[in-house]
Amino acid sequence: KETRTKMPRYPGLERWILIEKMGDGAFSNVYRAKDSTGQRDEVAIKVVRKFEMNSNQSDHLHPSVKVPKAAERANILKEVQIMRNLDHPNIVKLVDFSESRQYYYIILELCPGGELFHQIVRLTYFSEDLSRHVILQVAKAIEYLHETSGVVHRDIKPENLLFYPTPYVPSKTPKPQQPGDEEKEDEGEFTAGVGSGGIGVIKIADFGLSKVIWDSQTMTPCGTVGYTAPEIVKDERYSKSVDMWAMGCVLYTLLCGFPPFYDESIQVLTEKVARGQYTFLSPWWDDISKSAQDLISHLLTVDPEKRFTIKEFLDHPWIRETDEETTAAA
Ligand code: ADP
Ligand code: MG
Repeated sequence: KETRTKMPRYPGLERWILIEKMGDGAFSNVYRAKDSTGQRDEVAIKVVRKFEMNSNQSDHLHPSVKVPKAAERANILKEVQIMRNLDHPNIVKLVDFSESRQYYYIILELCPGGELFHQIVRLTYFSEDLSRHVILQVAKAIEYLHETSGVVHRDIKPENLLFYPTPYVPSKTPKPQQPGDEEKEDEGEFTAGVGSGGIGVIKIADFGLSKVIWDSQTMTPCGTVGYTAPEIVKDERYSKSVDMWAMGCVLYTLLCGFPPFYDESIQVLTEKVARGQYTFLSPWWDDISKSAQDLISHLLTVDPEKRFTIKEFLDHPWIRETDEETTAAA
């Protein structure tokens, strides 16, 4: 499986020994790499070729369309700048950033488990406990982004959710039990409960489409507040709700193994999403709790004003349920 001989060499990346390719996105190659100086743990390096990206990352522009260099650069720098300001256990950390004439190099904390997407494919679907274990960590990251950092991610999906397989090394020394701790649910920053399916810590990656919606220093919308139009001020709420919808899609997919909206025709699919047309398909959903379905229905709500916020999500009974209650209800 070692493909070291085939690893490309990049100017300016001499410090890092590329070990394997971990992912290729449309605009980047991501490699696992180790530090030749031995100072750092292994990292993930996202190599983005200059001049070849189309900056708005959408399908309606043909890949051959070249966007102005300044815009590309601004986009990459924005992704890096946003990541640089984030510090949360469920968000991939930025280690370093550099560039050469032809490439940008985004050096990231390595998530050795890879994409959650592959685990869904491997396990077909997740138990309610495992789904909760996963989505709660995603939610903690989203809460931090929405409530503390003023950032919306805008590209939450199983390909952008990465994980550490259990056991996660720093957790090897369990936290000493505090008096009164017995009743508390293990929030599991570094540990995974029974039935975690080998999935330990989940981390959100890929801030390529993310956006700062308010200034975390002044707690105001970005820009000159007095002159800001109402729809821009409201836009803050709407953009947060975009992440909540995506979380609904992820949770749905975790629980049954297929996405809530699907059609071979993009036109039909778009129409289904616009109308919020999905069902809890029998027989796949027959044994999944009504509580989980209720939570999903509050996320896959077409009206963004009525859709659950991250706070409402975290307050829902299905999220607050302990493992025992779920087992007892089954
Ligand atoms: P893109 O914008 O091209 O989607 P991503 O940042 O999502 O770029 O990275 C593409 C893929 O590379 C991810 O879906 C994942 O498979 C892999 N990857 C990215 N970052 C890491 C990381 N820190 N650890 C492990 N794999 C990663
Ligand atoms: Mg991605």
